[in-house]
Amino acid sequence: DITDEDIRSVVEVLRSDFLTQGPQVEKFEAALRATTGAGYAVAVANATAALHLSCLALGIGPGDEVWTSPNTFVASANCARYCGACVDFVDIDPRTYNLSVPALEKKLKSGRIPKALIPVHFAGQSCDMESVAALAKQYGFFVIEDASHAVGGKYKGRPIGSCDYSDLAVFSFHPVKIVTTGEGGAVLCNDHKLADRVALLRSHGITRDADLMTEPSHGPWYYQQMELGWNYRLTDIQAALGASQLRRLQAYIERRHELAERYDRLLADLPVSIPYRTREARSAFHLYAIRLELKKIKPTHRQVFESLRENGIGVQLHYIPVHLQPDYKRLGFRS
Ligand SMILES: *Cc1c(COP(=O)(O)O)cnc(C)c1O
Repeated sequence: DITDEDIRSVVEVLRSDFLTQGPQVEKFEAALRATTGAGYAVAVANATAALHLSCLALGIGPGDEVWTSPNTFVASANCARYCGACVDFVDIDPRTYNLSVPALEKKLKSGRIPKALIPVHFAGQSCDMESVAALAKQYGFFVIEDASHAVGGKYKGRPIGSCDYSDLAVFSFHPVKIVTTGEGGAVLCNDHKLADRVALLRSHGITRDADLMTEPSHGPWYYQQMELGWNYRLTDIQAALGASQLRRLQAYIERRHELAERYDRLLADLPVSIPYRTREARSAFHLYAIRLELKKIKPTHRQVFESLRENGIGVQLHYIPVHLQPDYKRLGFRS
């Protein structure tokens, strides 16, 4: 959904003095803080970069373990491997398809403790974050919410991204997600040290802030690289599109709920399970996931899928479990 106003916002940037690292990124970050209530927002090139920088900001590295859900896009797990850490998976709840808290508790009791857990808010519905946060406190691990599906969603009446129950949260602004910047992502948090670290690593690990330097600044041209960072910046062109889109966030979520209720009604008598809603969450409904009751029907999963596609219904399978990807099987994971 790209409106004339979105296009005008982008064209304005193209006619301005800055195409990247200008005022639009800061405005977009301020809009993300206002939307979520988080103290800090750092806009980056995509959610994969946001996950990578979140892991780095928490000091995740070789010898560490990071756990996530297998029912997600590969990026939720890959970010830990970029840092040299090992990945493991916590099984999901068959009703919500989110990471199962009892499964998490059982895994923690077996003796291994991850350095961080990355719960994924599948389809836009929050995981049971209160229980996750209680376990994080009890066992001592960090929590990064992969909220790529969930911008605009709520948990216990508070916006996803507020980080009330986590150290950091990550959004994606890829075009398939709820609001878009073409490619883009963001890290939200309430700790200024984490936010500063993410911002530093987003731009090569370079600072122009004299207070952070190892010796007095040599002059106005001077900068220092404090550690090895990346070029994970969002452009001003993208940020202007994002800020314009974000103004329609509430309308998008309401429309998605209307459509979800219509699907609920129309699918009620068919042999499928419709999305289960928890009491604590208001989903952003990035996806409306149904599960076929295959025992009750003759056609195969593939036949139903193909016939829906042939009828112009853009279905997709979410997800191929991450641990069954060849690159993960090579690490020893099995079904
Ligand atoms: C889309 C997605 C990502 C990656 O987002 P990009 O912005 O494309 O890097 C990560 N995690 C989940 C759950 C996603 O759906």
